[in-house]
Amino acid sequence: MDVCPFCSRQATQKNSQQIPVCLSHKDALLEDLKCACGEYLDVKSGKFGVYFQCFNCGNINYKKGLEMNGYPIVSINDL
Ligand SMILES: [Zn+2]
Ligand SMILES: [Zn+2]
Repeated sequence: MDVCPFCSRQATQKNSQQIPVCLSHKDALLEDLKCACGEYLDVKSGKFGVYFQCFNCGNINYKKGLEMNGYPIVSINDL
């Protein structure tokens, strides 16, 4: 099951970056994500789904890229 990176709810839609999101985050974009090396990550989508690309490190797994940037955001109750 895909999880919306913005709110951790079930993802039923895709945003314009092809990232699985929930209905209320359909228009939200993942921006300014950074790699562990400090470079910005580009969002890419391929036949195996969405992934990130770093200028230094090459392709980065979607989940790993999200984790490096603190996504999915935990629910408000957990803050
Ligand atoms: Zn959401
Ligand atoms: Zn990197």
